[in-house]
Amino acid sequence: MRTNNKKNLIDRRKFIELMASASSLTAFSNFAFADKISTKAKIVILGAGAGGLAVANRLANRLDGAKITIIDGRKQHWYQPGFMLIGSGLKKPSYSITKTTDWISDGIDLIPEYAYELDPEAKYLITATRKKITYDYLVVAPGLILDWSKIEGFDLNMVGKEGIAAIYAGPEHAQKSYQALSKFTDKGGHGLFFHPGTKIKCGAAPLQYTFITDDIARTRGNRGKVEITYASHSKKFIGIPKVNEKVTGLFKERNVDVAYQHVIKSIDHGKKIATFKSPEGNVELPYDFAHVIPPQRVPDVIFNSPLPSENKKWANQGWIDVNKNTLRHSRYPEIFGCGDVTGVPTGKAASVVKWMAPVIEDQLVAQITGKQATKTYNGYAACPLVTRIGRALLIEIDYSKKFVPTFPGVIDPIEELWASWLVKVSMKPSYYAVLRGKA
Ligand SMILES: Cc1cc2nc3c(=O)[nH]c(=O)nc-3n(C[C@H](O)[C@H](O)[C@H](O)COP(=O)(O)OP(=O)(O)OC[C@H]3O[C@@H](n4cnc5c(N)ncnc54)[C@H](O)[C@@H]3O)c2cc1C
Repeated sequence: MRTNNKKNLIDRRKFIELMASASSLTAFSNFAFADKISTKAKIVILGAGAGGLAVANRLANRLDGAKITIIDGRKQHWYQPGFMLIGSGLKKPSYSITKTTDWISDGIDLIPEYAYELDPEAKYLITATRKKITYDYLVVAPGLILDWSKIEGFDLNMVGKEGIAAIYAGPEHAQKSYQALSKFTDKGGHGLFFHPGTKIKCGAAPLQYTFITDDIARTRGNRGKVEITYASHSKKFIGIPKVNEKVTGLFKERNVDVAYQHVIKSIDHGKKIATFKSPEGNVELPYDFAHVIPPQRVPDVIFNSPLPSENKKWANQGWIDVNKNTLRHSRYPEIFGCGDVTGVPTGKAASVVKWMAPVIEDQLVAQITGKQATKTYNGYAACPLVTRIGRALLIEIDYSKKFVPTFPGVIDPIEELWASWLVKVSMKPSYYAVLRGKA
């Protein structure tokens, strides 16, 4: 009895420590008050998503007299990390939807249009209604586009019907995806999951939705009538060796079949067959349920501009050529890149934006004042990789691809933990603090 009490005490203490570390990852602020700088600089921010809002609000807090303009035609702001929870049946679409205007501080002008043209030599942008917007400094943060048309035969109208899921497509599609997943895990059959052949945002999401489907089928007592295949575009599942090893082990343990170097090409939904390009030629895989994630690349306004990297590896996706530490464009020093659009060797995630935004603020303000910048970005990215409902691996890395845990010895990145799952389900307030420029 005494031993049990002691054990409970240790467990409780350990739990409190874990929670402290989990919330600290997402909630502790890296925001510090600094003196206001007086300037007449014209600063334009392209994109009012996570990165654009974070930078715009930070600059509005910091600068006095600057003309800050943010350009984005999207009226809704989507909290995208929530799509995984909506797609798992744990949240409704409203969980992820707010208005873009909710997050824009006083003193920032919003042009509610998309930008169509960018001339970095002459320093201007053209919007949908042909407005010409000139700038002294430009922050490029238009995220990426989901190139559904690159999967032949696929149509977003299929989502939710007869076994097609696509949680990336938005909150409503994530909910429809859960309806398809739910039917599949009741009825049984072959579930197909894959990572497309480009870099994607939240690179762990394809794996997470595979694990969640497995878990829901098990909870319903139906795993025996469900087969699952995960097709990876490369020779591994994820670019961090220890995590790759862990996922390989978990897939084996949970009876998930795997196929490597399979790049999605087309879907024949009439026949329920997906075709992949592989080193051996085209491979057809049948499915009763498929989670579709499309190839991803920068929006056309960037793709058709001189900003993309000349690095051949990224040329067909257009990620922009910024210095990986200062986030300043390598050929246009008055242009910075933030978030998914940047061609830097780390993940594409909101946690990346959190650490990029203060660096861009610091570098840009230093440039305005002619002083030395004090902050640089080290490639930090964090991702709670859900391995079942209620458990996740909390992976934190930097450019070295080594683990950089916020609390070493408390949260083991390759241990499936409830505390790491809590990070995933409780990170929305800290995400919104990032948008406000306060974290
Ligand atoms: C399913 C899913 C799960 C995720 N889970 C996590 C997670 O657990 N943790 C995590 O850290 N991250 C996660 N992410 C990733 C995260 O949401 C993104 O990396 C983050 O939002 C990137 O911010 P951004 O500003 O670069 O792009 P976004 O937030 O996508 O914003 C881009 C903005 O630019 C605008 N835009 C586009 N083109 C133009 C144009 N031509 N002119 C003007 N504006 C334009 C868009 O309308 C949009 O508002 C997840 C993403 C998905 C899809």
